[in-house]
Amino acid sequence: SDSHFPVPVSPCHVDYSLHYPQLFPSDRTINSKIHFADIGCGFGGLLISLSTLFPEVLMIGMELRDKVTEYVKERILALRVENPGQYQNVSVVRTNSMKYIPNYFEKGQLSKMFFLFPDPHFKEKNHRRRVISPHLLDEYAYALRIGGIIYTITDVEELGDWMKACLEGHPMFEAVRDEELEADPVVKLLSSATEEGQKVARNGGQTFQAVYKRVVPSL
Ligand code: SAM
Repeated sequence: SDSHFPVPVSPCHVDYSLHYPQLFPSDRTINSKIHFADIGCGFGGLLISLSTLFPEVLMIGMELRDKVTEYVKERILALRVENPGQYQNVSVVRTNSMKYIPNYFEKGQLSKMFFLFPDPHFKEKNHRRRVISPHLLDEYAYALRIGGIIYTITDVEELGDWMKACLEGHPMFEAVRDEELEADPVVKLLSSATEEGQKVARNGGQTFQAVYKRVVPSL
């Protein structure tokens, strides 16, 4: 249950020196914040790719499963040892993202949020447990800066339709245009960088993506 892991009372209580020890020595205050969040990061493949693609950006994975989180921590530590100076900008935290996003990120803090191959929760009565929902999009819109991007992908068509419909119906999100999608190096990673994406590709499965931008609602 949630009682097994600590939750910061507010974003300013997130201990950056714990997550990024080389960048945040505890004797110095640095005014830089986490800008990318991979929600339900699983084994961390996306974060590892993003870490070297955006070496200046602080990023974090949020994962519910304890053992999976520990695995990602070990993976990052090993990469830091093998590649001195690299992978210092990436970390992971065990948490329930459906409850605690506002504890980690202040208003407008994030520039990218990722929801890659989230659990489908097929049954109608379980839809409220989906990580994308009209209610949770309010929270994501709060955490994202204007112009920030939310990336979603799934191999479950019904869930893909659902995520797209939720985003399309939300006043603070607008579909990213095709030209922009093509120019964005991150879009290519959605299906290739994560462990789940690689599994789907191996099995020749189809994927359904929805990439939306945080906008100011037009009145
Ligand atoms: N994104 C990864 C990928 O593409 O390989 C993992 C996909 S996996 C199917 C979904 C992950 O989301 C699981 O690791 C699961 O533990 C995690 N998850 C589910 N609900 C969550 C929640 N409420 N908060 C954080 N993580 C969650």
